[in-house]
Amino acid sequence: MIMVEGQMMDPYLQYMYSYPHKTAYGPLEGVSLWDHTERLSGSGLSLYLHVPFCQTKCGYCDLFSVTGQGSEEVDRYLDAVERQVLQYGQVLDSCGAEFSDLTIGGGTPLLLDERQIDRVFSMLDRNIRFQRAPGIVVETAPNQTTKGKLGLLRQAHVTRVSMGVQSFSDRELAALWRHHSADRARQALDLLKGYGLPCINVDLIYGIPGQTVDSFLRTLKEALAYEPDELFIYPLYVKHGAGLERQMREGMVLDPGAAFCQYQEGSRFLRAEGFRQVSMRRFVRQGGRQVPECGFSTSLALGCGGRSYVGTLHFCTPYAITQETCLEQIQRFEERADHTVIDHGIFLSAGEEKRRYVIQHLFIYPGLDLEQYAERFGSSPMEDLPVLERWRREGFLSVREETSRAFLALTESGLGLSDHLGPQLISPEIYEKMERWEVCHKNDPLQGQSEEL
Ligand code: SF4
Repeated sequence: MIMVEGQMMDPYLQYMYSYPHKTAYGPLEGVSLWDHTERLSGSGLSLYLHVPFCQTKCGYCDLFSVTGQGSEEVDRYLDAVERQVLQYGQVLDSCGAEFSDLTIGGGTPLLLDERQIDRVFSMLDRNIRFQRAPGIVVETAPNQTTKGKLGLLRQAHVTRVSMGVQSFSDRELAALWRHHSADRARQALDLLKGYGLPCINVDLIYGIPGQTVDSFLRTLKEALAYEPDELFIYPLYVKHGAGLERQMREGMVLDPGAAFCQYQEGSRFLRAEGFRQVSMRRFVRQGGRQVPECGFSTSLALGCGGRSYVGTLHFCTPYAITQETCLEQIQRFEERADHTVIDHGIFLSAGEEKRRYVIQHLFIYPGLDLEQYAERFGSSPMEDLPVLERWRREGFLSVREETSRAFLALTESGLGLSDHLGPQLISPEIYEKMERWEVCHKNDPLQGQSEEL
């Protein structure tokens, strides 16, 4: 807990990665992608491919990923993705859909071997229409970053590679159950630098048990030696279902106060080093290429575990974290005859759309454009969500003029408290659905409520 403006608060309640949380999704009937071609027509769409395979499961991980899968299992998954691409391709062709960006995330996409990586790029190239020079983002991990695979990324004109380094301390990496050493991360970054890709991002974690402000600053300084274009710094969360939960039960504790100090010193350091703070987690080198955050435009997900956003319709496979539940979902995905049938998701009401819009803009630079909001919804965010007025009085929000437009934006202290403030914007209806999901799964020790990191 930390003391802010005379109040004790936990700065790390929930990461509002996307709203609503997947646990608020439910079964859908009679819904088909074919009914939503209007939102898929034209250019500027985003495509996401989820590769749900990892070498080992990190202790904090609550993403949709499985371990121990060999080449045969990966091929079987890619066969299903290819069937999905062909079926989606027919829908997309019918409405002239054109994609401006592609993200291949996971999991660890570069766990695929070179033949499989090549197969992914050529299947997308053959069946999906991309605009000229699309943005292409690929996530990687140190152990999977090899010359051959980076060569394929360069050949595919990948524009951004994001590497999960997390820390340059072997002790901290062990505490996170990461499977690579700090030296392996150094070698991988050296290799990556040599490929001249337009944008390199490094992900790091703070709030690790045993980590100090000094050790976090050492990690940041070492990361900067590789001249990344962007850095994401994530507070450590251990939610129900993640491996480290067992250690928490045996006495391991997270210290939000220590994590908050690391955040404050780390963000100050990065700003002083010439990085622009775009959100609580994201820092972009001044003058660097601004890559949009995901989830703003119409976005279609391929594979199992990724989310699609098509107008008010959001859908994905049912939420899963553990090996058993993720494998079950993968099997269902592979057995599916028609991928254009949408049977799990949510339709957002007008009120939920407003909340989503506020959440997606307020926590990211430059903030919420008040005029655009009024044009879109015919109201003001302060009227729609009175909590915003309270935040303004408490000094977490202000109205900022930029390029002759007025933005509702977090102050520096509000930005650092994004994970405390964000959950207050969840509607009672969505909370109820999330809680219902939790109650349904609370007796299952292998599954639980969690956030996306
Ligand atoms: S945190 Fe990333 S690398 Fe680690 S298990 Fe999860 S998806 Fe895999």
